[in-house]
Order: sequence, then structure tokens, then C-alpha cells
Amino acid sequence: MSKVEDFLTSSEEKEVVEAIRLAEKNTSGEIRVHIEKGTSLKGELANQASIAPLERAVEVFHELKMDATQERNSVIIYIAAKSKQFAIYGDKGINDKVNDDFWNSTKDIMLQYFKKGENKLALIKGIESAGEQLKKYFPYHSDDIDELSNEISKG
Ligand code: CA
Ligand code: CA
Repeated sequence: MSKVEDFLTSSEEKEVVEAIRLAEKNTSGEIRVHIEKGTSLKGELANQASIAPLERAVEVFHELKMDATQERNSVIIYIAAKSKQFAIYGDKGINDKVNDDFWNSTKDIMLQYFKKGENKLALIKGIESAGEQLKKYFPYHSDDIDELSNEISKG
């Protein structure tokens, strides 16, 4: 699964997008998935040092303008396909309310499935878990709008 295109089939990708749509029916928070080959800024250069997945997740978070939500309550699930690493990063509105270990249960669930090579399930279960977590602090409102695209971002 070294290539981004190999990480999910197109039908699996649709299922993941649907999981995001459903998760966002429970919370005003926004969830996005970003998949890229590796964490280095210039991924094709062998001599380019890679950076920590979380650090790269924060960069992508801002590149995707995910901080542009009203309640600052979006979360990115970041995947580096080649190095098989992932990270979860939530915006300020979430971090102001929760402990540092807030995403640990979500990460644990995802890791269980990734270890089995179940990429689609890792994402879907992770998205469901993130939605449940967000729901506790950011419940869904009937006038909710979809502030950030549910489509998977690929780098
Ligand atoms: Ca929303
Ligand atoms: Ca959305």
C-alpha cells in the first residue's frame, strides 16, 4: 500500500466519505481525511527528511483551511500511506475543552484495523469514534451546515 491510490479502492473511498457524512449527523464538528504518500514535504526526494506524522497533520490541517469553522471544531485524520503512519489533530475549539488523551481511544481503534491491513475499516471505525467523541462537546444542531467537504483529500 505504498501508493495513495492503492490505499483505498474507489468503492471503499465512497464508503469512507459516507461514514463522514453520517458521523457529522451527530455533531457540529467537521471531520476530514487526508491521505498522502509520506510525511516529507517533497515526498519524491529520497534525501528529504520526513517529519513526524502529527507535525505534518497540523500543516495539512492549515493548508486545507480546516481552521475556518465557526466553532473551531474540525478534526483531521491524516494518513501517510507509504510509511504506514497516521495522526489525528483537532482544532482549538476542541483542544480548549478536552484533555490531551482525547483522541487516544480513536487512535487505538484505528491501529487495530491498520495492523490487520484493513484500511477502509480503520478509517470508518476511526471516523465513527471521532464523531462520538465530538458529539460529547459539540452536539448536532438542526441548522448545522457542512462547513468542510466530506471528500477525502489526497496529497
Ligand atoms: Ca457541520
Ligand atoms: Ca463535512
